[in-house]
Amino acid sequence: MNPKNTSKVLPTGRGYYLWLQKRRMLYKKLVIGRSVSCMIILCRNKKRILARKEVQSMIVVSACLAGFEVRYNGTHSLNETVRELLEQKKAVSVCPELLGGFITPREPAEIIGGDGDDVLDGAAKVVEISGRDVTELYVNGAHLTLMKAQEVGAAVVVLKEYSPSCGSAMIYNGEFKGVKAVGNGVTTALLRKNGIKVISEEELGDYLALAQIKV
Ligand code: SF4
Repeated sequence: MNPKNTSKVLPTGRGYYLWLQKRRMLYKKLVIGRSVSCMIILCRNKKRILARKEVQSMIVVSACLAGFEVRYNGTHSLNETVRELLEQKKAVSVCPELLGGFITPREPAEIIGGDGDDVLDGAAKVVEISGRDVTELYVNGAHLTLMKAQEVGAAVVVLKEYSPSCGSAMIYNGEFKGVKAVGNGVTTALLRKNGIKVISEEELGDYLALAQIKV
């Protein structure tokens, strides 16, 4: 026998098949174990990356919620959390109506004949209390807000509820009597059509908790 040959002597006959079976089982255990561990690590990494991406993404907020006096009557609708987000540079503010070409103060306006989706479809219009049709300015403001949200890669857009531009669940019903109806504003409708998540200031707390964003 060659003294340099250190290889193990394989069993023969039935012993060989038992040895082979044992090896196969060991191999399977090893491969399956490794695949499961890899999948767990990959899933964990993916979750971490998604969470980090969400936190790093900018939030777009209604300027009036951030405390800017841009509402039709020259007032604001300050929300302390929104202002804090802005101060911490986690949010940028927009006012779709100012972007659309309005100034402050301006006449109050409401959607007549439907909601923001209907305005975009040409089935409803936005009218000021004196009767002036301002649909075009509202649609312009919505498009410029969409551009801004896309530019900053907005994770979410937080807009003032009940506004004919910014409402996301309820708006005024078009009779100028202070009556609310289910529907969204023109800007909200356009953002959502383009796959952007829009929530109101009333849902902000829940969103921040879910996204683990500390303010
Ligand atoms: S358009 Fe939106 S951001 Fe501008 S004042 Fe109205 S609710 Fe606020």
